[in-house]
Amino acid sequence: MAKIKKKVKTIKIDLDKCNGCRACEVICSAFHATPKYSSNNPARSRIRMIRDPMRDVYVPVYAGEYTPAECMGRDKYIIDGKEYDECGFCRAACPSRDAFKEPDSGLPLKCDMCESEPPLEKPLCVQWCLNDALIYEEREEEVEEEAQPGDVEAALESLVGKHGLDKIADTVARMSKKS
Ligand code: SF4
Ligand code: SF4
Repeated sequence: MAKIKKKVKTIKIDLDKCNGCRACEVICSAFHATPKYSSNNPARSRIRMIRDPMRDVYVPVYAGEYTPAECMGRDKYIIDGKEYDECGFCRAACPSRDAFKEPDSGLPLKCDMCESEPPLEKPLCVQWCLNDALIYEEREEEVEEEAQPGDVEAALESLVGKHGLDKIADTVARMSKKS
């Protein structure tokens, strides 16, 4: 398989600097609203603040890949002696919980690094984090060329998991006759 250069974008999270203000959730949901910036609802954000203010624990978690099945094992985190919920810091949109799902449609949400045209200098959650808890980095890596499933494919996969392939195929066929 051919090798290509790929720009890898990462956001480093400095937990010691995060104060749980949730500005990152607000701007992310506003940026992804339709039309852009017309509303903000942290339930639609692709970054979630997991908080335990009594212990001064604030953990920003980015929405990762959609997964159609629950995983077989569960992670538990112990921070400063407190055990946190299983799945609490997981990045996946998965059938076992409501996190990282669009509240109205149930479609999975995934951080897209604020893709836009023209591109932003830095993702908006990074720009809005006044405490510098989110640090944006870019690097180039040589990787094997492979097709990545896009947002539409992930959304379709989620709908098929929820309603079954036949029902989705019937609906698409019906819609295409109307258009
Ligand atoms: S990088 Fe953009 S899409 Fe990803 S969580 Fe931050 S604001 Fe949301
Ligand atoms: S904007 Fe920064 S400090 Fe505020 S919750 Fe998000 S990561 Fe934490």
